[in-house]
Amino acid sequence: MKSEQDFDAVVVGAGFAGLYMLHRLRSEGYKVRVFEAGDGIGGTWYWNRYPGARCDIESMQYSYQFSEELQQDWEWQEKYATQPEILRYAEHVADRFDLRRDIQLGSRVTAAVFDESTARWNIDIESGGGSQQVTAKFCLMAVGCLSTTNKPDFAGLEEYRGAVYHTGEWPHEGVDFAGKRVGIIGTGSSAMQSIPVIAEQAAHLTVFQRTPNFGVPAWNAPHDPAAVRAVKADYAGLRARAKARPTGVDFPFNEFSALSVSDAKRREIYEEFWNRGGLTFLGAFDDLLLDEAANETAAAFVREKIREKVTDAEVAELLAPKTIIGCKRLCVDSGYYETYNRPNVTLVDVSETPIEAFTATGLTVAGKLYEFDAAVFATGFDAMIGSFTRIDIRGRGGLPLREKWEAGPRTYLGLFTAGFPNLFMITGPGSPSVLASMIQAIEQQVDWIIDCMDYMGKEGLTVIEAEVADEDAWVQTVNDAAAGSLRSTCSSWYLGGSIPGRPRVFMPYIGGFPVYVEKCDNVAAAAYEGLRLT
Ligand code: FAD
Ligand code: NAP
Repeated sequence: MKSEQDFDAVVVGAGFAGLYMLHRLRSEGYKVRVFEAGDGIGGTWYWNRYPGARCDIESMQYSYQFSEELQQDWEWQEKYATQPEILRYAEHVADRFDLRRDIQLGSRVTAAVFDESTARWNIDIESGGGSQQVTAKFCLMAVGCLSTTNKPDFAGLEEYRGAVYHTGEWPHEGVDFAGKRVGIIGTGSSAMQSIPVIAEQAAHLTVFQRTPNFGVPAWNAPHDPAAVRAVKADYAGLRARAKARPTGVDFPFNEFSALSVSDAKRREIYEEFWNRGGLTFLGAFDDLLLDEAANETAAAFVREKIREKVTDAEVAELLAPKTIIGCKRLCVDSGYYETYNRPNVTLVDVSETPIEAFTATGLTVAGKLYEFDAAVFATGFDAMIGSFTRIDIRGRGGLPLREKWEAGPRTYLGLFTAGFPNLFMITGPGSPSVLASMIQAIEQQVDWIIDCMDYMGKEGLTVIEAEVADEDAWVQTVNDAAAGSLRSTCSSWYLGGSIPGRPRVFMPYIGGFPVYVEKCDNVAAAAYEGLRLT
């Protein structure tokens, strides 16, 4: 007999994925509970409260589209919304759709074990009040791709007497750096957004850079009301155009090679895309992520811009990446490079001589001590799989997911992993996820999962799981797509590069959002091909 603790579906995580999943499940009449480790909803936008945090996909597109009323009513203030605004939006959605009553906050799922005798998931939860166990027919992982922070295990860290912060776990009360000496480790997107703001507050900022990143200006600004009205007059049109693009984002792009035009024309086009700003810079030509020579023309252009912005030639050289642009995720900045012209900012290169150890007052590099009162770790995340492997997930025969994924994640469509029946992943490895506009990717997968669950209900089917052969074929498809892209040629978090010892596997599906959507639709139309339904 089922008790209060038995659910049709349990959702893990209350970011944009968990919230929309809950909304859809409840609308379809499922008995559902969401467990969220944080004390609030919003996921990424609940945790990443560091100074300068904002989205880098334009807000008019980085937002839900499932409700026309919602997208008409919500007024984004700026081209790229700030973290507080995005969090307010998530909270508005939770209130508007009355989601909070089915979300249990401060509750971390620690284990999910499939019971073959009952075909249900036994789920363990730790919360302030102790531990709890629930069961569910379906276990829906909305745990996020960038939700488990990466905190490198530096020697001597426990000796350090100053404050230590991670951008992905920023204190809610904020941090006042006025008059403080600050050391920041990392130069990815989080660092590029926070460095200009911290430098304005702090007495001194020392940046420890292992690998420079390419940054393209955001040119953020308040929204032009007329432009917003124009979008809202045909929001569906914008969404349809976005859905047809490989990145799931609508922006101007060219469909010819960087090598097919004269030097003068190429420069003119780069200037045009630079002046538009943001990630869309990579739309200047259609082979920038496919052809090394084409890519180098864009990389050289951005290097030149960096050299123009940074007055100290040596510092400019250190900041200018010598690699493929867009191989690591492109960053979108607001005054990042110019920050190095400030007298209170020092750049320390730790590429050849890594950070040795923390001391009581700072850290040492090549025997030299750098002192600071507060350390900021902008060291990123255990991306794509960290939030899965942190949970003790066990499938058929008690097989731990950690063991199955030891040599890299294996999924069917990024939605299923063979041997783990009735476990769905939202934006799991092997789906476009972080290579698409994520809210759009989330909605597509949630809608697909709901259709699948409804189909099972109608057909009287209780268990769904991926066939091993189809999973193997999809893993091959994911690998083949990655092999064709320059993105697989460097070290980045797409490849698990941020975590020492991780196998080098390109985790998201890079074949493009529309190709992926078509594949998912075809699978559904063919009575869920590649999936065993019993
Ligand atoms: P998340 O928002 O990460 O939510 C997952 C939730 O699951 C978290 O709240 C976490 O606490 C919870 N959770 C995880 N494990 C457990 C567990 N075991 N038990 C209970 N709860 C658990 N994407 C874009 O497309 N555009 C952008 O501009 C953009 N900007 C970003 C900026 C930053 C700083 C970061 C870090 C990411 C950004 N992203 C962006 C990616 C962003 O993560 C997604 O857009 C989106 O917010 C992900 O939503 P989600 O619900 O899938 O995951
Ligand atoms: P990240 O891109 O992984 O950057 C982490 C940084 O820390 C890198 O510079 C890395 O150097 C450095 N690092 C890690 N370990 C180190 C060590 N032991 N010693 C020295 N340096 C070390 O992480 P992130 O900046 O948090 O961004 C992650 C992703 O989140 C982004 O790519 C993006 O998708 C999303 N995001 C988006 C925005 C936005 O603009 N909307 C903002 C923040 C984040 P190496 O490169 O050498 O490894």
